[in-house]
Amino acid sequence: MTFEEARKNLRDLELREFAFNHAAGMLYFDGVTAAPKGTYVSRGKTLSVLNEEMYKLSSGEAAQETLRVLGERLDELTPAERRLVQLREKALRFRSRVPMDEYVAYQELLNESATVWREAKEKSDFTLFQPLLEKIVAANRRFAGLVEPDKDPYDFWLDNYEEGMTQAFCDSFFAKLREKLVPLMAKVAASEQPDTSLLGVRFPLDKQAELSAWLMRFLRLDPERCALTTTEHPFTIDFSRHDVRITTKYHENAFTSSMFSVIHEGGHALYELGTGEDYAFTQLGRGVSMGVHESQSRFYENIIGRSRAFCELAWPELVRLCPELGRYDAEAFYRAVNASKPGLIRIEADELSYSLHIMVRYELERALLHGEAKVSELPERWNALYKQYLGVDVPDDAHGVLQDSHWSGGDLGYFPSYALGSAYGAQLMARMREGFDPDAAVASGDITPVNAWLGECIWQYGGLKTPSELMREALGGDFDPGYYTDYLEAKMREVYRF
Ligand SMILES: [Zn+2]
Repeated sequence: MTFEEARKNLRDLELREFAFNHAAGMLYFDGVTAAPKGTYVSRGKTLSVLNEEMYKLSSGEAAQETLRVLGERLDELTPAERRLVQLREKALRFRSRVPMDEYVAYQELLNESATVWREAKEKSDFTLFQPLLEKIVAANRRFAGLVEPDKDPYDFWLDNYEEGMTQAFCDSFFAKLREKLVPLMAKVAASEQPDTSLLGVRFPLDKQAELSAWLMRFLRLDPERCALTTTEHPFTIDFSRHDVRITTKYHENAFTSSMFSVIHEGGHALYELGTGEDYAFTQLGRGVSMGVHESQSRFYENIIGRSRAFCELAWPELVRLCPELGRYDAEAFYRAVNASKPGLIRIEADELSYSLHIMVRYELERALLHGEAKVSELPERWNALYKQYLGVDVPDDAHGVLQDSHWSGGDLGYFPSYALGSAYGAQLMARMREGFDPDAAVASGDITPVNAWLGECIWQYGGLKTPSELMREALGGDFDPGYYTDYLEAKMREVYRF
């Protein structure tokens, strides 16, 4: 294979994998939105054929030869080609070191585990899920040891979800958050609580759908390339920069649930839609990592969506759609959506207590992967950490250790990227303010300058740079969690008036 043939092969491999992923993703999306229950049988068959073909394509002889030829002349490649070779080598290393039969068995384990976890959560009985989680933890420890025997297994998985992330980084990051946030939470708890009754007004579902359309127009989401649909658990799925779908769920007596989920998923969608045309149809044509993705979604949801400027802008629209809100005012809305109360459930957590939910999971995952905790001890350890960090008593496993699906999907090491994303967002806002006034843009109803700034600094690069390189350049320096704690303190002072 000549050098030029190998370059052509690389482009070809990327395009074909893109097409397989596109097709598989669309089937998955249909499965969790419109498809009736019984359709899973044929969808499962098609998906397993597609997955097998994808595996052969990306690990086959031709792919390996392509990487070997290109690897010898990296200097002559474009930056995008070099990055693709690097990413493919990493993926190939995993596949070549983990025996195929073990990997297939693991996928089957995860399949079973998803069902058992759901049942265990419904019955609030961790012991049902325990034997599967034991196997998942054992497999994760084994795979890490096979692929990178010299690396700490938890560092291996952290890096898998957020390239470059380590325990050393997380330890220092979380320690800084704890130092500032724990006393701040105590201050908030001792203050007079805002009236949050407006969050429970009856907001008709068709009017909430109108609100979603208004929010998508506010975000400047291109309706030709992005659509909203409903599902059980809101998420975003990106097929390409030309096609992103976001989802939400409406609750008649909790309108802010769908309101903020639309803004959150809209942030993910803006990022995907803003990736550079040059990277389309390759794996670089998407957001670079979970942490950077959450920095965008949580930026729009919290830093923009829960800002005073936005609450004032949205208020007349909210009252128009739900006249019952007319008894309150924009200030009451601003205070209510920023009220902080430590609770049991991560996805319902307010901005202030959110990262403490992540720290609980971080400590437990690490102990599991290091073999320092047994899976059977998890509920007890979970409940003790919730008491210690959030001051709440966990009544049962469904509201405790069984609440998230991540571990049942084999994702140990995924959670810290959520907290990192929130902190990135606050520093991005500070950086943005050096150039223009984002609050004024929000207040005017035209968010274009904010989108343009993020598009220029983050979105356009897709997966070209590593997450830490990308953020260092966008932030104009090192990451500093102090921006996040300062942001939270300033907001709590305003909301709680201390
Ligand atoms: Zn998200």
